[in-house]
Amino acid sequence: MSEPTAPEPVPAELRALAAEADALAERTAEIAARLEATDDGHVQRLAQPMNKATHDLADYIGEIARTAEYLTRVRVSRDPHLCDVPWGICPDHGVTLRSLEDRAWCTATGCGNTWTYDRLHTPCTEPAAAIATDRDGVTGSLCSAHASDAAQRLDGCSIEYLDHRATNS
Ligand SMILES: [Zn+2]
Ligand SMILES: [Zn+2]
Repeated sequence: MSEPTAPEPVPAELRALAAEADALAERTAEIAARLEATDDGHVQRLAQPMNKATHDLADYIGEIARTAEYLTRVRVSRDPHLCDVPWGICPDHGVTLRSLEDRAWCTATGCGNTWTYDRLHTPCTEPAAAIATDRDGVTGSLCSAHASDAAQRLDGCSIEYLDHRATNS
């Protein structure tokens, strides 16, 4: 029995969720401020859990916004004019990235490239500069950095550079 597949969420849906939570957080903070402003100490104390709720909402909004950002990157990477490799590179140095949580940086000496997302574990979105064909005849689009990495590492893989060169960055 085949179940109907649920449609993949789009980033705009996540951004709408985040906007709703943002409005909630604002109202929660406003109530917290009014609790804090009273003369009754018992009521004032109740501002604390409301402030905590405001912070929890901020964390929630952060998670949703981050997910929307990653989803956007994954969707962009499906563009046939972009590199097909499911992990990122430094556009200047190639496969030199390291990542930790939501940061990535290039480990090449003197390279100051850093990213505020886990670029290493995010599909490459550099423009396709070459077509790679492996020994089974499977082809894929590669950016220039991934093409030179593939040329060095993959045995029996042929790389054909496209005429159209990536424009200056
Ligand atoms: Zn670099
Ligand atoms: Zn690439």
